[in-house]
Amino acid sequence: MKRMVILGAAESGVGAAVLALKQGYDVFVSDMGEIKPKYKDMLDTHAIEWEERQHTAEKILNADEIVKSPGIPDTAPMMQKVLERGIPVISEIEFAGRYTDARMICITGSNGKTTTTSLVYHILRNAGYNVGLAGNIGRSLALQIAEGNDFDCYVIELSSFQLDNMYDFHANIAVLLNITPDHLDRYDNDMQKYTDSKMRIIRNQDEKDAFIYWADDPIIRKELSRYGIKARQCPFSIVSKNGMIGYIEDGTYTIEAPTPFNMEQESLALHGKHNMYNSLAAGIAARLSGVSDNNLRQSLANFQGVEHRLERVASVGGVQYINDSKATNVDACWYALESMTTPTILIIGGKDKGNDYEAIRGLVREKCVGLVFLGADNSKLLDFFGPMGIPFADTHSMKECMEACTRMARPGDTVLLSPCCASFDLFQNMEDRGEQFKQLVKKL
Ligand code: ADP
Repeated sequence: MKRMVILGAAESGVGAAVLALKQGYDVFVSDMGEIKPKYKDMLDTHAIEWEERQHTAEKILNADEIVKSPGIPDTAPMMQKVLERGIPVISEIEFAGRYTDARMICITGSNGKTTTTSLVYHILRNAGYNVGLAGNIGRSLALQIAEGNDFDCYVIELSSFQLDNMYDFHANIAVLLNITPDHLDRYDNDMQKYTDSKMRIIRNQDEKDAFIYWADDPIIRKELSRYGIKARQCPFSIVSKNGMIGYIEDGTYTIEAPTPFNMEQESLALHGKHNMYNSLAAGIAARLSGVSDNNLRQSLANFQGVEHRLERVASVGGVQYINDSKATNVDACWYALESMTTPTILIIGGKDKGNDYEAIRGLVREKCVGLVFLGADNSKLLDFFGPMGIPFADTHSMKECMEACTRMARPGDTVLLSPCCASFDLFQNMEDRGEQFKQLVKKL
């Protein structure tokens, strides 16, 4: 009996464990942290052996294959031992992909993955397709396959960490939204390594597949010439229509192929420049999947958006409050600021991933009438933004932050939580940060 060891027991790891058991493996699950009760219950229900707060070498290094959670870096001590031994390491999606023939629509990029994945899923579901959702969203692909779901198609959000351990997996439709610096700490601060990871989305694609990508992105454009792309190329742009499959021109959203489609840009549910890219990518994926004009038009117009992404929370005393807690890098905040149409008080800060704030200096100067720094240590923000002459407040909890916002905001302003940083210094995660923000707004 082959032994499958799973490192990391959260959604993807536990899903992989259940699937491995179903496939007749001897399964062991190990997590250096504490395993959430719901996952312990799931492992116990299936009588799968597990451990937490430790990695027992003897039980791990005898594996035939390892499924690693995307959160564990190769530099982790146990991973170093695993790699030294030459044990094959794969991702949960790679593993699950072995046991399904469903069509795979896979979405990656530095920003916009969740929004675009959710939008494609929304369009296909509304069009009556038998479609599942997986990857970084919702339930793991492995668990859905273990439970015998027979979706014809899955829409899957893939992070670069997941792509790193994918080898034979094959995306029928691959979407690459953009490549901007993020998570560079996991890639030896080497942008090329991070880029190579994202480009893995087209691995194993052939002539029957499609590759949808943002053609205005200089990094993607440069990479294309390095790869012999076999799939049908479906570029989209908002600056040019030359050679594009999707574009926006003079207020019209257009898809040229496989069959022409257009609608008023104004009717799109998602606003902001970044969301035009997301809507184009999703529309092309839907069109390639055969969605009709009416279904596509309706779904692009009635999509509700995703929580914590430029989410309008409330308007209080003439001040609009927007929760963009998911903006955990500078590029995401750039797009949020870019879409602001009223004077903005920007809440920024948290766990800095080596950010260079130069990219948003111009927009901050143009749009912001106040800055509220929200982090355990705001010194970098104070050094960078302090000298700009924009009123600012130095805060260390959401309560202090909201007090500063209400002090600064005037009717007609927007308070935008778009922090450029991870949340772990003061919050459990970005959802917790967004929830605390929303709760305090609702109490105003
Ligand atoms: P991801 O899943 O890749 O993190 P999300 O859809 O959750 O992406 O969006 C994260 C943040 O990135 C949002 O808060 C939004 O401000 C910004 N964003 C969304 N789509 C794009 C895009 N296409 N390009 C740049 N930024 C984007």
